[in-house]
Amino acid sequence: MTDQTPAQNSSFQTEALIAEDIDAYLDQHQHKSLLRFITCGSVDDGKSTLIGRLLYDSKMIFEDQLSALESDSQKHGTQGEEIDFALLVDGLAAEREQGITIDVAYRFFTTEKRKFIVADTPGHEQYTRNMVTGASTADLAVILVDARKGILEQTKRHSFLVHLLGIKHLVLAVNKMDLVDYDQATFDRIVGEYTAFANEIGIESFIAIPISGFKGDNITAPVGGAASSNTPWYDGPALIDHLETVEIANFAAQARTFRMPVQWVNRPNLDFRGFAGLITDGSIKPGDAVRIVPTGKTSTVKSISTFDGDLDEAVAGQSVTLTLADEVDCSRGDMIAVADDPPEASDQFETTIVWMSDEALKPGRAYWLKLGPQMVSATVAEPKYEICVNSFEHLAAKTLQLNGIGVAELRTDKPIIFEPYTKSRQLGGFILIDKFTNATVGAGLIHFSLRRAQNVHWQPTTITRDDHALLKNQKPLVLWFTGLSGSGKSTIANAVEQRLNLMNRHTFLLDGDNVRHGLNKDLGFTENDRIENIRRVGEVAKLMTDAGLIVLTAFISPFRVERQLVRGMVPDGEFIEVFVDTPLDVAEQRDVKGLYKKARSGELKNFTGIDSPYEEPENAEIRVNTVEMTVEEAADHIIAQIMPLK
Ligand code: ADP
Repeated sequence: MTDQTPAQNSSFQTEALIAEDIDAYLDQHQHKSLLRFITCGSVDDGKSTLIGRLLYDSKMIFEDQLSALESDSQKHGTQGEEIDFALLVDGLAAEREQGITIDVAYRFFTTEKRKFIVADTPGHEQYTRNMVTGASTADLAVILVDARKGILEQTKRHSFLVHLLGIKHLVLAVNKMDLVDYDQATFDRIVGEYTAFANEIGIESFIAIPISGFKGDNITAPVGGAASSNTPWYDGPALIDHLETVEIANFAAQARTFRMPVQWVNRPNLDFRGFAGLITDGSIKPGDAVRIVPTGKTSTVKSISTFDGDLDEAVAGQSVTLTLADEVDCSRGDMIAVADDPPEASDQFETTIVWMSDEALKPGRAYWLKLGPQMVSATVAEPKYEICVNSFEHLAAKTLQLNGIGVAELRTDKPIIFEPYTKSRQLGGFILIDKFTNATVGAGLIHFSLRRAQNVHWQPTTITRDDHALLKNQKPLVLWFTGLSGSGKSTIANAVEQRLNLMNRHTFLLDGDNVRHGLNKDLGFTENDRIENIRRVGEVAKLMTDAGLIVLTAFISPFRVERQLVRGMVPDGEFIEVFVDTPLDVAEQRDVKGLYKKARSGELKNFTGIDSPYEEPENAEIRVNTVEMTVEEAADHIIAQIMPLK
């Protein structure tokens, strides 16, 4: 194509404008909308050529220009759009800091009408994760197909992932049309096949464009012309024209309900307390009623301040500091939301997870879950099923391997503020991070909360856990006794409780027998039931510490992760793990309840120490060896250790 394209034409005008009147240029630039898109294709579909062509036919802004532009726009006080630049740059820097590897190249270019960020991801099957990373921020996807090959497994997989990640705008770019002599029948056949597939997986609409990335057909329309003269039978838009004009439902800018995660609390003096953050949804005005999530307290907005002074209204995309009419508790990590439609807070979810690590998902293990600024510990249950990305069948699965996609329940140690992914990508999408290597191992989408009480916000109460403890004149504690059956947990815990009682401490002893006969009588001894048993005991112990009690528990609790889970439920320093260290042969010899005998004879299955493992604590706060200590000595030792804590 020798004709000058409108885009090229405009790039010269743009340069002239930059040279002559930088303010006018920035002003124009500022009001252009931004489209983020992703290109998906197999290895030889011509993705690089296409991106090269897009950059060539439009005007590419290089990265160093980008930062110059960014500081310029800050100088000139532009509000909304600098965030997009900053997002791009910061996003990458933040990921690097966390040691998260992303193999996605982001390219930035601009035309007269729009700015673009294109995520370029590798096409190999093993790169599902990269595609997910790239697609998670995209508004539109260009699915590239080689006209000679038609719809491939890859095409379907990519489309499925793009659809899963909530991208509503799809372009089926049938490439290499020059190699099939611009044959309309070939194009129509491919589009027909794709339409059938799209219907099957629920893609509502897409636009198909016959192109040649190499020759340039239908990438941009020549000046004054519509489609390429090589495809007279095609009367739709050229690719860039479509990208420039497609109307993206900009959720953030719509009159959606207001949300702002609090990034920091700004208190320069006693008279001013501001909550700073980036508005992710909706808009806000002074006088609007807001609710703090998760505490549930309400107030009204007193002022909206920025570097450039106070505002009468602020919208999604702006970074502001809000002051409120009332002195309410609100800290970093909380969210300020519209009072009558706040997001939910929950700690149990059904999710879709894309696994991104060579090491398979370990159900029950604790990972970090990062959702926006929120970071909590989370465990994933055994998947309900895995989705085959070729046939889209649901397969039974015990775990997820690299690139596996499955639906699984997930639990966090603290409630997090969320919305279903279909409602909000920001509040519904999360990543999972390995606690030891700090690598991103999974990405997930929240379907819904599993809690019945999902819509109940914690009512602000007047009597706090501190008040309960103060009245009892003690520091609440959980003394978590762990050890083999017959190691002496109950006996020693009893002796400790007697001593505490004599010292006027308020205590409660939870042991296997009293809990299993009541609260947990529906549970058996499979691994899952044991974990659930311990989780419930942990929750009960936590409530009792909230009530100010010193709780003693005597459960074998053989798995480290479950003890870790309970530790995470109570405030730091309140969980004291007491390892009752008794060798198996000694416990077996005691055999108080005759259980070892039954286990040895095979009458009792899954018995800890015999045919089910006991994972010894590595860093228990207290360890007592019952071969070396009597019951009384062990109890005295424990009291001596905890009394400095009161
Ligand atoms: P667990 O609760 O760990 O299953 P129990 O406390 O029910 O264990 O049983 C431990 C048994 O071992 C009791 O009969 C107890 O009298 C006996 N025992 C002997 N020496 C000790 C010791 N030094 N510490 C604790 N228990 C001991």
